[in-house]
Amino acid sequence: MSASSQTSILLIYTGGTIGMIQNPETGALGNFNFDQLLLQVPEIKQFNLDIFAYAFEPPIDSSDMSPDLWAELVRIIYSNYEKYDGFVILHGTDTMAFTASALSFMLEGLMKPVILTGSQLPIGALRTDGKENLLTAIEIAAAKNDDGTPVVPEVCIFFHEKLMRGNRTTKISAENFDAFESNNYPILAHSGIEIQYYRHFIRPYDPKATLKPHYKMNADIIIFSLFPGIQPTIVKKILKSPDLKGIIFRTFGSGNAPRFSWLTQSLTEATQAGKVIVNITQCSTGSVKMHLYETGCQLLEAGIISGHDSTVEAAITKLMYLIGQELPPESIRAEMKRSIAGEISV
Ligand code: ASP
Repeated sequence: MSASSQTSILLIYTGGTIGMIQNPETGALGNFNFDQLLLQVPEIKQFNLDIFAYAFEPPIDSSDMSPDLWAELVRIIYSNYEKYDGFVILHGTDTMAFTASALSFMLEGLMKPVILTGSQLPIGALRTDGKENLLTAIEIAAAKNDDGTPVVPEVCIFFHEKLMRGNRTTKISAENFDAFESNNYPILAHSGIEIQYYRHFIRPYDPKATLKPHYKMNADIIIFSLFPGIQPTIVKKILKSPDLKGIIFRTFGSGNAPRFSWLTQSLTEATQAGKVIVNITQCSTGSVKMHLYETGCQLLEAGIISGHDSTVEAAITKLMYLIGQELPPESIRAEMKRSIAGEISV
């Protein structure tokens, strides 16, 4: 494995804690500019790499991330695809797993590393985790096999020693440095003294693949989480909403829901009206298996499809992406059931 002097990396700075500074009057964190951020990491110059940067102006807190900004990231990567060997996106942690998931669908045929990272403490803070995350993300984005192909040709998150497939990640901590988890898929690499890649889990490089960018996402969908005591009037109103095209339905355990006839009926009517309803579990590990219990079988009969072991982030962005392609509901259902970017285990 090597990173030659010709290896070039595009660093895309979107914002987030990594580039923030404390307002001395209010104590709140706000963005500071990208050049100041780079000054905090002089070590970057020690890489034998050509590193170029692109910064969002103004940088954003990732709570303000949106499908339009994902499309902007796709545009930046697509228009620079031939020029660079890898891409590192600096991003706030709050919605990083959504962005990583969205990009994995929008960048069809991607065969170069797109590594998202950020930090829990600003890069200027004494105990920052930002430097380590940034420097290792760059090293991973530049890593090549002996034949010159990239080691990690897919969208990933690198955070606190772990390289994870982007569409398998979830933010699990608002205070620990170890803030992300890939609960249903093994990590792709671990960074200790050396970076240890687990190659059999990494998407294989396909020399014939060409990058096909997708820009359209349709967000006429909701995430709907069950709880004991859920009320019919509210649920019926939501399911009947004429603008609603899809629902990520977060159920109990292996994909179960209460056996209320009003609920099964409303869900059946919604699927018959062309709404795509995807069942994912509220549990953080494991998969939906609707045939296991009667409380799950009724959902199968209502036309609900399994989201398998998908994260919420991957399920919602995949549904946005497929509805954005303007496919008929039956094709969307078929695509939701199969893995299109390694997001589910089927
Ligand atoms: N609010 C910040 C953001 O997501 C948090 C972070 O970066 O860790 O932009």
